[in-house]
Amino acid sequence: MKAYNAKRDFDITLEPPGKTRRGKAGFAYVIQQHDATRMHFDFRLELDGVLLSWAVPKGPSLSVHEQRLAVQTEDHPLDYRHFEGEIPHGEYGGGPVIVWDRGTWQPEGDPHHGLDKGHLSFVIDGEKLQGRFQLLRVRGRSKAPERGPKSQWLLVKRDDEHARSGADAEPTQRLPRSVISGKTVQQIGNGAGDAACDKTDDAPMPSLDSIEPQLAQWVDGLPRAGHYRYEIKFDRYRVLAMIDGGRAQLHSRNGLDWTTHVPAVRDALAKHSASTSRRRWPISSRSATSPR
Ligand code: MN
Repeated sequence: MKAYNAKRDFDITLEPPGKTRRGKAGFAYVIQQHDATRMHFDFRLELDGVLLSWAVPKGPSLSVHEQRLAVQTEDHPLDYRHFEGEIPHGEYGGGPVIVWDRGTWQPEGDPHHGLDKGHLSFVIDGEKLQGRFQLLRVRGRSKAPERGPKSQWLLVKRDDEHARSGADAEPTQRLPRSVISGKTVQQIGNGAGDAACDKTDDAPMPSLDSIEPQLAQWVDGLPRAGHYRYEIKFDRYRVLAMIDGGRAQLHSRNGLDWTTHVPAVRDALAKHSASTSRRRWPISSRSATSPR
């Protein structure tokens, strides 16, 4: 965890400070898509209170015939698995991050022994990825160290009912969105993420006609991947809220001023803004009521 902390200035980045969690054994799994100097997928497995981490430039494949290079990076703190947002430019790993997949993993055999031998077999139970995978350490001519950070591994799908071929084998293409926010890493990079908004103190207030409220839509079935919430559709009004200098203004979809019609909502939003003073304008299509 020392290597993790040494690389980051926690006064600047919103990433969590590194600490090792002792005593609580769990097997969290997460993949974060990270558009830094190069786009890559950070593959992380919880072990002994930290997240073991590998950078996978091409991301995972569901084809048993693909071997994806996975370069081990420094252990990350467990809390990092929730991190989504923009790492400020100029900082280590500067660029947007989304939580691309999350869930749990189950080692097959003793994972300490597997890590030591360079042969880690496990089963993933994520929202996007499931089934058996392997991490195999590359030996031989490579100049990379044999162990620890910068050591080279291959991430491989093992054969089971979750293996796929062709275009179906590339989940990062088919399912690009965050399992937390539903945003792509490009959208987070454009300042559409909450954490990113925290850093836009000097950004101008967007104009009303540049923002569309999120509306309900008819679909034939429930989404099969990703992170969704459901709510009962009351037949009410969708309202856009803008908060500037601690004052909230509310507008209908047609741009009509609703600020005085819903004073309770206006006051609650102003109060919320005061308690998160660094956030000048949360892009908010959240409304007190549901769409019509
Ligand atoms: Mn990364």
